[in-house]
Formats: sequence, C-alpha cells, structure tokens
Amino acid sequence: MYKISVEGQFDAAHFLRGYQGSCENLHGHTYTIRAVAARDKLDRLGLVLDFKEMRRILHVAIDEMDHTLLNDLEAFKDRNPSAEHIAAHIYAVMQPLVELQGAELLEVTVWETPGNSITYSEERQE
Ligand SMILES: [Zn+2]
Repeated sequence: MYKISVEGQFDAAHFLRGYQGSCENLHGHTYTIRAVAARDKLDRLGLVLDFKEMRRILHVAIDEMDHTLLNDLEAFKDRNPSAEHIAAHIYAVMQPLVELQGAELLEVTVWETPGNSITYSEERQE
C-alpha cells in the first residue's frame, strides 16, 4: 500500500460550550491539519494521487473554516468545535472527493497547538 499525506493550516476562533475552564472563553488557534490517503495500486502515472489534487481537496475542507468563528458554522451548530469534531468534519468533506480520485482517505490529524493532536479515522472497507 502507498500512502500520501499533505498538510495545511488555518486560523480560527472557537469556544467550547460547557467546558469548565479557559476553553469556554472565545480564543483562537492556528490549526495544523494533516490528511493521509492510500491506494493499493498506483495509477497509470505511478501516483497514489497528485499532490496538487490532494492539496486542493484538503483546502476544500479547510478554507471554509479559515478566519471564522467555528461555532457559527453549520458543521458545529449542534456539536462543539473541538479538535475531535474538526477532524471528523474535515474527514467527512474530504473522503468522497478523495474516493473520486480512486484513493481512500485514511485519517485526518488536527493540531490545535504544537504537540497536542487528535487523529480521526474510519475503518477501511475492503
Ligand atoms: Zn481552543
């Protein structure tokens, strides 16, 4: 199996409803995102997926969150914009687009601060 990963960043504000502590207050992060896709056999060019294409797909997911208050977005109306939910949201947006390219999205990792990350993945369907 071959894996491809791309990374990107975006800046956003959020607050966590119901959190006891400073994260309940409005504050911002520079989020770093890494998305990993895989393919068992390479395409006819010898690629898992063109880096340019993988990067475009990552940005479809993250650009809509850049310089926003995450709590205002539809995706986080009913759930806190925690790093966990952000990772799951990015995964949900990216997965069908990666699949269209013949590859499979394996996981999405979100760093809220350097050294603290969350990884979301779903079980592979063979
Ligand atoms: Zn935070």
